[in-house]
Parts: sequence; structure tokens; C-alpha cells
Amino acid sequence: MQTGKIGVTTENIFPIIKKFLYSDHEIFLRELISNAVDATQKLKTLASVGDFKGELGDLTIRVKVDRKKGTLTISDSGVGMTADEIDRYINQIAFSGAEEFLEKYKAQANGIIGHFGLGFYSSFMVSDKVEIITRSWQDGAKPVRWSCDGTPEYKIEDADREACGTDIVLHISDDSKEFLEDHRIEELLRKYCRFLPIPIAFGTEKEWKDGKEVDTGKDRIINETNPLWTRKPAELKDEDYQKFYRDLYPTQEEPLFYIHLNVDYPFNLTGILYFPRIKTNFDIQKNKIQLYCNQVYVTDSVEGIVPEFLTLLHGVIDSPDIPLNVSRSYLQSDSNVKKISSHITKKVADRLQEIFKNDREQFEKKWDDLKLFITFGMITDEKFYERAEKFALLKNVDGKYFTFEEYEKLVKENQTDKNKTLVYLYASDKDDQHSYIEEAKARGYDVLLMDGQLDPHFINTLESKLKDTRFARVDSDVIDKLIVKEDRKEVSLPADEQADLRLVFEGALPAQDHYWVSFEELGEGANPVVITQSEFMRRMKDMSAMSPTSSFYGSMPDSRNLVVNVSHPLVKSIIEAKSKQLSERLNEVNEKIKPVKAKVEELEKAQKGKKDDEIPQADKDALADAEKQLDKLEEERSTVLKDFGKNYKLVKQLIDLALLANNMLKGEDLSRFVKRSIELIKPE
Ligand code: ADP
Ligand code: MG
Repeated sequence: MQTGKIGVTTENIFPIIKKFLYSDHEIFLRELISNAVDATQKLKTLASVGDFKGELGDLTIRVKVDRKKGTLTISDSGVGMTADEIDRYINQIAFSGAEEFLEKYKAQANGIIGHFGLGFYSSFMVSDKVEIITRSWQDGAKPVRWSCDGTPEYKIEDADREACGTDIVLHISDDSKEFLEDHRIEELLRKYCRFLPIPIAFGTEKEWKDGKEVDTGKDRIINETNPLWTRKPAELKDEDYQKFYRDLYPTQEEPLFYIHLNVDYPFNLTGILYFPRIKTNFDIQKNKIQLYCNQVYVTDSVEGIVPEFLTLLHGVIDSPDIPLNVSRSYLQSDSNVKKISSHITKKVADRLQEIFKNDREQFEKKWDDLKLFITFGMITDEKFYERAEKFALLKNVDGKYFTFEEYEKLVKENQTDKNKTLVYLYASDKDDQHSYIEEAKARGYDVLLMDGQLDPHFINTLESKLKDTRFARVDSDVIDKLIVKEDRKEVSLPADEQADLRLVFEGALPAQDHYWVSFEELGEGANPVVITQSEFMRRMKDMSAMSPTSSFYGSMPDSRNLVVNVSHPLVKSIIEAKSKQLSERLNEVNEKIKPVKAKVEELEKAQKGKKDDEIPQADKDALADAEKQLDKLEEERSTVLKDFGKNYKLVKQLIDLALLANNMLKGEDLSRFVKRSIELIKPE
């Protein structure tokens, strides 16, 4: 037997770094440039407190590619390192010098990026060998060269360097040759370093002279050291914000609004957020916010850092309090990140409130574009709802806008039902539901337009928030029953007549769809037949259509109500015609039914209360026979009524008119309707 210790030493840490430290190999450049920026900022700090007495001079960080030698060099004029410091900060992995420095110079050291102590080693992900040539800022410091070829052995020797600062020389490995391409480095610098606070030079400026491109020999600075968000809002104009947006998102339309964030307590955060114009496909628009840490680009996937609905915004957030090199799940549980998230929500709501208050006209004009964003926020974020209910708008079918409070006032008196529930009527399509909207308006009701893609969810949210309020789509019932104001009287048509008339209409209904035929007395002025779909059923279907998993309601057939207005003269005429044409045949069948029915009843009575084994088989058979016979006769009777409905043009015509009012009559049915209409029109 043998026991031992699994050795975790630098020997086996190196390959791990190389492969797994960062899944994205390209971030080595971000890390090395961050270190160069840190070193430069440190020197500035030392100069500002008087510890460093020399000239600061040109602090530009330079990035150079030498394809012949296969090297990439990053040079800074920062604090540099002594051999002793190299030993402490470089040789001892995971010991972050930045942290130690911050501890010592807390008050003055703003904008030091490093936190972690593994950043430098990410260079081994792309290099066979790395050299550091550095000279410390301290008087009499000797320049040194450190080199390491990826094995844990390193070398330190004397070197030549005039001024303080550091060159990091990467000998790029064969499988990382892409990092010797100018355009690749340029792409990375643009991505990670675009807004770093120290000028970064890559290549030289070119100029057009006499039709030729000539090298000016001047450094080409690739970054903007004072990006807009670091400047004071008071110094900036609208145009500046618009221009910055165009720089960030060249292909986007102009934004609706912007918010300049500037927080220094209880955490540090700056940034500019834009409301883009979004109407549909909001998924595509997500992840446009860029997250920075002291002007170093971190990520553009901010989910978990800002509330979900804010991921629809565009812009920049910069906070030294958002930890850099950590996992997403850690970020989401970080208390700072949570605070930041709720603070941004508040700021966004405040800004919207301010625009609403100061310029309602402008706010209304932009509402249709803002709406998706605000309703998304109100649905998903309780706190945001509380703030937004003061400025969120409802739009009616006439294009008028109301706050929640204004709207309640508008409809309260006329649209409260007998149970004291306030009913908000809405349409989801102005054209399809036109006839219903008109009916509602004729009653003096107001109709909201809820045609946004999130409106079905939003309606649920509103119903749970607004007291004693219910939403009903205009076509979810006949107008009298949309808002029931008093107990309604029963329909005067007797039950058996209703049953017959139901069969007549069923005979004429399209076979593939499911309709429930019911009867109402809607008055002579109302339409003879109306098609409605219950609010509940429709919502369930809408919701399940939106959810990716199929559900019970989603698989149910579309079911609608066909409401027949028995007080309408045309319906009355159908009832009359039916009696006239069918009474003889129906009577015949009725006469046949009578004795069979009597027999069934008699047999049932005789067998009632008896146990199954007490009834003689002959009696059982007799009952079954009689029942079968009765069914057949009833069937015969139904067929008479259904055939009448199928062939009596007026029935079909009234149903088609109701379908037409719903924009539901299409194709062959529509052609037949047109033909039949022409036949039915009598010359004057
Ligand atoms: P971190 O930046 O998180 O501290 P790094 O591995 O990136 O970790 O760097 C380790 C330490 O090495 C730094 O804290 C710093 O003290 C030192 N260092 C790295 N690069 C430079 C540089 N260009 N100039 C001066 N010191 C540097
Ligand atoms: Mg670092």
C-alpha cells in the first residue's frame, strides 16, 4: 500500500492556467493593458502626493507587434518593479499587488483595476515565453529582466532601461499566431480598451497626401480617455449624448431618451443609459448595455446585474464595485450587484417620471415606442410598478392617452357593473373588432387599445393591482353582458323552442369549428346574430400560445359563442318559417316519439331502486331496445331541424354576417356568402 499527497504546486498550476483560467484566450490583452494602466495610475498617484518627484512626461501605453520575432510587446511608463517586487508580485501567483497598493493609498488611488492576482499569468495562454523588462520609479532602482518559458522556472537578470516603466514581451506560441495580426489586435483593443483612461498607441497615423497614403510617424491613439459618462452632466449637451450613442451603436435608430447615472454613495457607479426605439423582437435587442470597471470593458451580457427589463436598454455602466473576474452566479448573489440593480431601476423610473412631468406631450408622442419597455418592467418588477404607475399610460382606440388615475375617473361612473366591479373594455385589433368597438361606443363606453405583444400579461398584472377592476375584450360577450348593470330578465322563448332553434342554427354552422349557441333578447336595433369568445377561454389560449410548452388550454379547439338575438325581426321570421315548414313533419315524429318515451319511462320506473341481479334479463333488454328506438327518433327529429337550418338561406346568411363582423369569413365560405347575398337582394 502507498499513501501520499496530491501535490498542488506551480508545476501543475501552469497547464491549468493555460487551458482553463479564462475560457476566452483573448482577454490576456485586457489583463496586460489593465496592468499597464494600473502602473501608470499608481505613478500619477505617487506624483500627486509628492512621493515621486521626477517628471511624469509622456505616459502613453504602446502596443507593438513584431511579426519577424513573433512577439507582442506592451510598454508603459508606470511605476515599474524592483527585482524584489517581481519576486513578490509575479513569482508568487495569486498575490495581488494592486490590493496592497490600494490598502496603502486608499484615499488617492482611484481607478486601480487589478483585484485578483492572476491577470498577468493569462499571458501564458498565448505565449511560449514571457519577458518582463522593468525599472522601478524608486531612486537608484536597477532595471531587471524576468523571463519564464512556461515551466515553473524563471530567470531574473540585469537589464537596460532608461526611464521607469515596464515592457511585457510575449513570444506568441504557434497556436496563437492570430495575435500577431494587426487587425486582430486592433479589434481587441477596440473591444476592451476603447475607453481606458490612459492613452494607448497602436501603430502610427496615416495621412493621404497627393493621392497616396503616407506614414506621419505619429502615434495612433486608439482610445478615448475621457468618455462621456466620466464627464459632468452639466457640461454636456443633448448632441453629445446623441453622438456618443451613434459611436456605440452605429446601426441603431436615434434613442428616445437617455439617463446619465452618477452615484458615489453607497457604491460607485457612473454610466449613460439609453432607451432605444423598440417595438417587437425585443429578444434580439437584449445585451446592448456594456459593463465597464474603471473604463475597462468587462462584458456586454449584463443579465443578473441589471433587472431583466433593463437589459432592453442600451448604453454603458461603469462601476469599480462590480467584481471583475468572477463567475456569473457569484455576481448575481453579490450584495453590491443587487444594490446597483435596484438603484438603476429607481433612476430609470425617476427619469421617466421627470420627462412625463416636464413634457407630457413629448412623453405621449414617444409612448408607443416606450410602452414595451415600461410594461415589461411593470410586469416583472414590483418596485418598478410602484414607481411607474404614476406615469404609465393607457391608450384608447381613438389614440388618446390617460394615466391610470385619469382613466379610472373617466370610466368609473359609466362602466361599473352591478357588483361594483369597474370594467375596462379593450380591443386588441381596431379593425377586426370594429363592430364591437362601435357597439361599446354607442353605449358611451370607452375602449382601450391593448395591441402590444406583452399586453395579455400586462392585463393580468393590472387586474391584480387595480382594485375591483376587470378587463373585458369588446368581443368577449354581447354588449349588455359585458358590463351587467342590473339583473336581466329571462329570455321569453320557451326552453323546448330554444332547443329546436339551437338545432336549426347548428345545422348551418361550419362543421369544423365549435360554437355554443345561446339566446338573448338584445332588442330590435341590435344585430340578429353575434359571435363572442369568452374572456377566460381566450386568455387561456393566448397565454398558452405564448408559452413554449404546450398546455391543456392550448390543445383545446377554439370555442366561441353564437348568440342569437331572439327579439330581432329576422330571427323571429326564422322561427315562424320553421314552424310553418316543419310543423307537419315534426308532429309526425313527435307522435312516434310519444309512445316510445312513455315505454322507456315505464320500464325505468319498474327497474328503479332494484339491484342489477334482481332485474330479469328480458326487462333489461326491453329497456335497452326502447332507448335505442327513442335515440333514433330523436336523431330523426334533429336531422329535420338541422336540415332546415342548412337549407334555409337566411340562417346561413345571418351566421355569415356575424362571422364577417369578426373578420372570420374567408375563402370559399366568403365566396359563397357573396353569391348568396346577391341572390337574396331583391330589386327595389
Ligand atoms: P492584479 O493586477 O490583479 O494585481 P496581475 O497578475 O495582473 O494581478 O498582476 C500582479 C502584480 O504585478 C500587479 O498587482 C502589479 O503589482 C504587478 N504588475 C503587473 N504588471 C505590471 C506593470 N506593467 N507595471 C508594474 N507592475 C506590474
Ligand atoms: Mg492585473
